[in-house]
Order: sequence, then structure tokens, then C-alpha cells
Amino acid sequence: MSTPAKKTVTNARKKATAPPTYANYIQGAWVASKNGEVFANHNPADTRDIVGYFPHSTAEDIEAAVAAAAEAYPRWRLVPPPKRAEYIFRVGEILIRDKEAISHDMTREMGKVLKETRGDTQEAIDMAYFVAGEGRRLYGQTTTSELANKFAMTVRDAIGVCGLITPWNFPIAIPSWKILPAILCGNTVVIKPAEDTPLSVYRFVKAFEEAGLPPGVVNLVTGYGETAGAPLVTHPTIRLVSFTGSTQVGRIIATQAADKGKKCSLEMGGKNAIVVMDDANLELAVEGAVWGAFGTAGQRCTAASRLIVHKKVIKKFTQMLVERTQALRVGPGLDPASEVGPVVNQDQLERVLHYIDIGRTRDKAKLLCGGTRLTEGDLAHGYFIAPTVFGDVAPQSVIAQEEIFGPVTAIIPCQDFEDAITIANGVGYGLSAAIYTSDINRAFQAMRDLETGICYVNAPTIGAEVHLPFGGIKGTGNGHREGGVQAFEIFSEWKTLYVDFSGRLQKAQITD
Ligand code: NAD
Repeated sequence: MSTPAKKTVTNARKKATAPPTYANYIQGAWVASKNGEVFANHNPADTRDIVGYFPHSTAEDIEAAVAAAAEAYPRWRLVPPPKRAEYIFRVGEILIRDKEAISHDMTREMGKVLKETRGDTQEAIDMAYFVAGEGRRLYGQTTTSELANKFAMTVRDAIGVCGLITPWNFPIAIPSWKILPAILCGNTVVIKPAEDTPLSVYRFVKAFEEAGLPPGVVNLVTGYGETAGAPLVTHPTIRLVSFTGSTQVGRIIATQAADKGKKCSLEMGGKNAIVVMDDANLELAVEGAVWGAFGTAGQRCTAASRLIVHKKVIKKFTQMLVERTQALRVGPGLDPASEVGPVVNQDQLERVLHYIDIGRTRDKAKLLCGGTRLTEGDLAHGYFIAPTVFGDVAPQSVIAQEEIFGPVTAIIPCQDFEDAITIANGVGYGLSAAIYTSDINRAFQAMRDLETGICYVNAPTIGAEVHLPFGGIKGTGNGHREGGVQAFEIFSEWKTLYVDFSGRLQKAQITD
């Protein structure tokens, strides 16, 4: 979202309140923004609770951070990858030690329930161990040469200073997908986290500091997209921009990066579908749909916002889904009884309620449950929305086409398997899809024909593991994958090396 959801405050007003003030991390030191301004980070479950104040940084701070990263780069790129990996391994150990505190802070600043923020932190831990292990691999190839007494091989080369821009829905997992492979490959980085979740990245960067990472290798600058993110993207020293966020902002960044000839990796929106066939285990499918649609209050790029259900089972499926949805306990993420937390901010609240209104009025879909903001008691101080299910949704309607990014899902009827695949593919995004079926042939046809980067059989659209590639096609991505060894394709360049030990001039392709 481009509109700042959190207000800038002066130092004078800030001093009247107790919450801590945090700093940017540049050249191994914690520093205020050059203009001295900060913004408040609120708890979305109770906006009276201010989590902290963070530097409202601008181009000047980006300049300092990029300079620090550029200074650190020539030394860091010469550190052997297994040694770089040792720092990363240590970061993993620190995250394990601090997992509970980090997850608690993350729930407080972002809203999702503690069980899920623990999962978010665990993903960064998994990523640290996975990437650290790759420090002893980072394989290239040796191959034959067409000429005698000549040796040919490929190695991965660092790129330089990387600008990393991350969203708020996976406050530490997504930064880990970027920072860890970037620095393992020998790059240095400047990260600009989402304005809603700077504390999680602050805690992550603290772990790098404690692990003894040399100054300047990882730099943190907090602030808003237009004032801190944009100068990072356009800075001439930045060789690579890695962005995760909305398709709208991703397109702007892609254009700016292309204009300056920078490498650019984008992970953007999704409109993911679960297909439920007539031979599916309905109990399992409903359970998967509830988790897929309402986990993280639907604010996952892989959220199951479309449920494409075979006409023979749609009545039963709908009834079971609505029952399960109505039973979900909505409340503050820090309350162990809560199953669904708030949405992240006022903008997000308004956006989701707006789509619900479109679903009712323009799309004329059947509102089966939810559809309202929850304001009973203390919920009135937060951004809570009742988990919402629409039925009889037409595949081309707005709520079946556009990413809502909230606790809203749409049941779309289908005639048969072919119809289901056509509907599933009939959107502008291509991140994740799932099929519930007991027919192995259909499962394999679906894996072949669903136009997405990720596909699940008999499991919901969410649940990525770090050692496998993650990303999407169409409006979701631009051909790169995070996670897995594929992430190294983003953060390194191939260098091809020839060694001629013949002692004479040999010419490739020239025969006489
Ligand atoms: P967003 O695009 O509004 O913001 C993402 C980041 O970009 C933030 O740090 C923001 O400050 C920054 N930004 C905004 N405008 C900028 C500009 N002009 N220049 C540079 N930086 C700018 O997205 P969001 O609301 O934080 O996150 C939600 C979106 O992220 C959803 O669309 C979701 O699908 C997507 N997402 C995708 C993936 C994926 O891997 N495909 C994962 C998580 C989230």
C-alpha cells in the first residue's frame, strides 16, 4: 500500500510516551535518521499500544547505507563462502535462542497469531541453516573444452551492493530469503523493510551484529516506500534490486531498475485457487481451505482466496466450510485462544471492507458469513474483520480476480475437471494452486496444467519450505525464484573461466 498508515511524529511528542526509539544500522553502528524524524509503529490488535518509534529515513540515509555497503563489498567478496556461512550459521543459533521474544514482538507489530509468528521466525532459522550449508557447495561446473590442453569451468560471482525491499506479512522470513543468500554469494546489502514491521527486521539485524558480521555487509534503513524505498531502487551504486510486495509497486520498481540497467527480482501478488473435485476427501479439503484462506488473516501472497468446487459436492462443502469459518476465534494474536488476528493497518482494513462491499453489490455474490468489522469490547481498538465466505461467485467477478489480501474467500462452482482448471488459470496471477482429489490421474493432470509456480495436491495453497524454489508466473513474478539453490541465481552471476595450458595460441571454432 502506498499511503503511509503510520504517522510521522516529532521528537518532542515522542518523548512524552514510553515506547523505545530504534535506529538504522549503517556501517556496523546504530544511528538515527539524518533528519531526526521517526514514525510510530502501532499494534494492529490495539492501536493504543505503540510498539516503538523508527527512523523516518530519506535519500540521505540511503546514501550513507549504500556507501557503507559499497565500502564493505571489496573485502566481503573475498571472504571464502564457507567462512561467510559461519556467520550465517551463528545468526541461525541466535534466532533459535531468541525465537520466542522475536515472535512475540512480531505478533505485536503485525498482528498474526503467535503460532504463526513462531513459524515465521522458524522459517528464518531454517533458511539460515540451509544457506549456511550451501556455503560449502555453491557449485559451479567443470566441463570439457573443444581444444586440447584447455580447461573450462564456471563459478558464481558476487554482484555488488543489493537493495532489498520487503513487505509486512512475513516480517522476518522474507528478509531472510533475501539477506542470507545475498551475503553468502559475497554481496553486501541495504534492506528497507515494510513500514508496518521494522521491529522484526531490527531484531534480525541485531542477530547479524551479535554474530560478528563485518560492518557494512548488512545495513538497515527504515522508512516509507516513496521516501526510503524509491531512493534505494534508483541509487546508482545498487546493482541488484530484490523486491517482494504488491504487483503495483513491483511494476514501478521493474521499470526503474530496467531504466538503470539493474538486475531485478520481483515476488508480487497472488490470486490462488484450491480446486475441490467430487472425489475429494471433503473433511480434509475444508480443513485445508480454512487454513489456506484465513491463516495470517488471509494476508499471505499464497492465500486461498478462490475455492473452485465441483457442482456435485458444492452444497456439502459450502455448508461444512461456513460452519468451520463461523467457529473461528478472532482476537489478538498474543491471546493463545485466538485463531485469526487483525489485518495489519487502517488501509488494509478499508481495502478489505471495500472488496467485501464490491462482492455484495457489484459482483452480486452470496455473502455466506462474516463481511463485517468486529468491534465488540477491546476489538474496537484493532483492525479485526470477521472471516468472510462468498458463495456463487462468478469466475470473472472482481472478488474472484483481484487480490484482496484479507480474510475473504470466494466459492466458485465448476462443472468438471477441465472447467476447474480453466477457471483456476483465468486470472492475472500465477503463484500457488492446489487440488483435492483421490484420482491420481487428475492429480498429475492438474500438476501439469495449473499455471502457477507452486502446486499442491491434497494440501492447501500455503506451506512453502525453504529448500525448494518459491515464486510465481504471470503477474506474480519476473522469472526468478527465492528459496532453494535457485535463489543463488538471483544473487550471483555466472563467470566462465578458460585455462589454456597448451603453451600455444589455440583458436575456438577456427579450423585452419
Ligand atoms: P507494498 O508493495 O505496498 O510494499 C512492499 C514494500 O515496498 C514496502 O517495504 C514498501 O515500503 C515498499 N515500497 C512501496 N512503494 C515503493 C516505491 N515506490 N519504491 C520502493 N519501495 C516501495 O506491499 P505490502 O502491502 O507491504 O505487501 C503486500 C503485497 O505483497 C501483496 O500484494 C502480496 O501478495 C505481496 N507479497 C508477495 C509475496 C511473494 O513472494 N509473491 C510474498 C509476500 C507478499
